[in-house]
Amino acid sequence: MLAGPVTPNDPALKADFSEMSLVERLGSLAAGRKNAVFTTSFGIEDQVLTAALTIAAPAVRIVTLETGRLFDETLALIDETENRFGITIERFRPDPKKLAAYVERNGLNGFYESIEARHACCGIRKLEPLARALNGADLWVTGLRRAQSGARAGVPFAEHDDERRLIKANPLADWTMDDVNAFVDANAVPVNPLHARGFPSIGCEPCTRAIRPGEDERAGRWWWEQDDKRECGLHVAEQDAAIAAH
Ligand code: SF4
Repeated sequence: MLAGPVTPNDPALKADFSEMSLVERLGSLAAGRKNAVFTTSFGIEDQVLTAALTIAAPAVRIVTLETGRLFDETLALIDETENRFGITIERFRPDPKKLAAYVERNGLNGFYESIEARHACCGIRKLEPLARALNGADLWVTGLRRAQSGARAGVPFAEHDDERRLIKANPLADWTMDDVNAFVDANAVPVNPLHARGFPSIGCEPCTRAIRPGEDERAGRWWWEQDDKRECGLHVAEQDAAIAAH
């Protein structure tokens, strides 16, 4: 269990974000926070948020989960983003002992063999580092959008994460891909070159492929699995994520 403050009556849960600009949303969400965290995976939505946070709420910590299996393009973009915005991005990495034990048991690419092995890999490379990144946080900002997939169609602007005991905020919840692209163009935001090669959603290299015309934006993630709600566990309840991680 994470040690975030309990905030069931947080003002963010009652706020009407629908008519606010992105900068206004972020300013409102971050006001009065002691430990606000934005987790970026350097997808285009996350780059929009990084750019907006530097204006709206520069005290928000920007962190990333450096899984050890990221694309070279993503690693280069981390450095480019720091230089472009003059910020430092915190890197959280997997526990070396747990990772070595996983590789010993399943092989480096054992995640292709079963859903259990895949969840275990995501657990070690993503969920446990995420837990460390969010420990003590009172606000968690993400780049989730409703239009990304059917599984994300109901994403709210803000919700109380009962298990992580923090406010999880999705200030881009109602943005379309056109909204995202317009912001990027207007603000010269650096983006991952993989987007232009058919990767709207980018995760670990061995688990991400380009999508085909008409496919869901997240269809290239864990493409060999059949479950249309597949996620890495970051955006499900911690109890479920813990199950998924074993
Ligand atoms: Fe492992 Fe793939 Fe999950 Fe990355 S996305 S943590 S490589 S299973």
